[in-house]
Amino acid sequence: VVTTNDMRLLHELEETLRVFSTALPESAEIRHTLVRTSVKDVHTFILSLSGIKKTYTYTAASSQSQDTVEGLRLTRRAAKLGLYHVLREVTGITLPWGSLTGIRPTRLCRQLIREYGDLNLAIENMQDVFDVTYSKAALVRDIVLNQAGFYRWGEDGIADLYVGIPFCRSRCLYCSFMSADLSRKSMRDLVEPYIEGLLREIRETADLLKEMGKKPGCLYVGGGTPSSIGTEALWRVLNALQECFPSAMEWTVESGRPDTMDEAMLSMMKDAGVERISINPQTMQNNTLRLIGRRHTAEDVIRTLDIAGHMGFQSVNMDLIMGLPGETIKQAEDTLRKIEVLPIDNLTVHTLSVKRSSRLHEFPDRYPLPDAETVKEMVSMGEDAARGMGMFPYYLYRQKYMTGNLENVGYSLPGKICCYNIDMMEETHHIVAMGAGSISRRMYFDEDRHERLANPKNVDYYLSHLNTLLDRKREFFLKGTVKV
Ligand code: SF4
Repeated sequence: VVTTNDMRLLHELEETLRVFSTALPESAEIRHTLVRTSVKDVHTFILSLSGIKKTYTYTAASSQSQDTVEGLRLTRRAAKLGLYHVLREVTGITLPWGSLTGIRPTRLCRQLIREYGDLNLAIENMQDVFDVTYSKAALVRDIVLNQAGFYRWGEDGIADLYVGIPFCRSRCLYCSFMSADLSRKSMRDLVEPYIEGLLREIRETADLLKEMGKKPGCLYVGGGTPSSIGTEALWRVLNALQECFPSAMEWTVESGRPDTMDEAMLSMMKDAGVERISINPQTMQNNTLRLIGRRHTAEDVIRTLDIAGHMGFQSVNMDLIMGLPGETIKQAEDTLRKIEVLPIDNLTVHTLSVKRSSRLHEFPDRYPLPDAETVKEMVSMGEDAARGMGMFPYYLYRQKYMTGNLENVGYSLPGKICCYNIDMMEETHHIVAMGAGSISRRMYFDEDRHERLANPKNVDYYLSHLNTLLDRKREFFLKGTVKV
């Protein structure tokens, strides 16, 4: 447990404690006190462990603008760093990402570039101050450099578009975000009304975009698994998108599972104008695919890729997850050898994240996971494989509850990157989102901040509150300073 006299810092302190939680007894208590003077901030941490109390202090420069957004950010950073140093000393553990608990290390790097004026100094600072390991700092450096031609901060005239289709044919063990499992009849009955509701939101969003004075940027259809609703239903959605946003700059459908894609589905997507698709096996081990609740085999993945290959999509992405239950280094190696020869343009190497709302979290004893060191090696093998295929890393993010506190990295062949992924992860664009569970983002470029607005995940709730949700979205994007 961690407590503090400044509640604005509690979240950062809790997050830092969380990454060390497996190395500390549950009874560990930390009391944090911040004392601010005109010359310095003193963070005091009193750690109670097994009946013994110990006091640590961490001193940071005082900010004259403590109560501005920037001052608060620096104070949070110092509190987090202070606690990290305490816990590193107490547990003897160093972490690959050091004191970083946030999901976007490349965003921190850009902040540091602004502070120090130079990428090399920013990377050195990440290692020296934030304790990020050399290899992770080098990865951040590579990604920032690889994003150079595609990173578009402050492009206020366009907005990216996201469409969520929150259905799937069965539920994977680790899934936390799907809200409607189509193996249940009650959920299948929701598809038709959902499409009707979504089509309305798509049309109204096209009008909203015009009122906002924005042009459509990247268009991304995600889920769930969009292709799980069937060719005809998905066609209606894609057709409406094509009609409403004909000038979108890039069009991706995260079709995902091979058991939802046949020749008719892929050909329909191509005809609709989709440029980029994803085929995501997560592993090429049939026993693991069965265990995690997938209803397809590694052979189905190869077959689907073969069909997609003949359709001529601009880019095909594949997702893998390292650290799935029961997997060994040998199996990860086998998966990588199998995908290395496949015709893919992007590879995203994920680290398993055990989310609280997943079945994996509910039944941990049933599904033993590889340990952090093993997963670290698997992730590094994934990087070697991607580079061996001629790909380079171009985006990166971290999630809570990842094994070994590692990361997810997207790799791409030259000329094949997905700009939406960069826009999304680097938080550089407005996102106007449609559908249940989708999250809109409005940028306030002058203030270097954004606000988010989420649609409810529950499909029934989404449909019954659609009028209110559409009004709320208009208000969210049109209020205040945006040109109308
Ligand atoms: S395929 Fe994706 S959305 Fe569907 S259950 Fe698995 S993780 Fe969830």
